[in-house]
Amino acid sequence: MVKDAFAHVEHWVFDLDNTLYPPQARLFDQIEVRMTAYVMASLGVDHAEADRLRRHYWAAYGTTLAGLMREHDVDPTPYLTHVHDISLAHLERDSDLAAHIARLPGRRIVYTNGTAPYAERVLEARGLAGLFDAIYGVEHAEFRPKPERAAFESIFEQAGVDTAAAAMFEDDPRNLAAPHEMGMRTVHVAPEPHDADHIHHHTDDLTAFLSQL
Ligand SMILES: [Mg+2]
Repeated sequence: MVKDAFAHVEHWVFDLDNTLYPPQARLFDQIEVRMTAYVMASLGVDHAEADRLRRHYWAAYGTTLAGLMREHDVDPTPYLTHVHDISLAHLERDSDLAAHIARLPGRRIVYTNGTAPYAERVLEARGLAGLFDAIYGVEHAEFRPKPERAAFESIFEQAGVDTAAAAMFEDDPRNLAAPHEMGMRTVHVAPEPHDADHIHHHTDDLTAFLSQL
């Protein structure tokens, strides 16, 4: 039974983008356009080169920002403000998901590679505001992103997460590796499954999955 696998869980950690809203909302398309524009302007490269660099940074460092910081010493704060200044008009309130999150026993946390103020806007638009005990963004880990284990360790220490009694919900399989190593229950939330030893569960419907717990 899925329920039994979560009987010990007291800390529920959720990624934000494409986890607490469906990828069909395509918010990341808007963010990617703004990231590319920022790379073009800050490094003085053309569109194709900016796209190539973004893919390289994402693969090598986990995020575009991490690559810009590591290779070009880019200031993270104006970058993060710029890339998250997007329209949330495509997000819909989700009262079923809200009800299932509200009945999870213990502490509920959002941990995103975006920023906490952006996460609050998204949660508000989804009708999920007020359901979480704490919201952490990349700024709370000195701008180190998931999947770096040091980023998870920093956030979980600040949040008081006991990883032996915790679960992580994420759409990016890479971001479940460190939580798994740290003893957490891992749930991959995405349209397609991803075969990896560090993934305990997969679902393409977070609400349906939570309804089993
Ligand atoms: Mg995500």
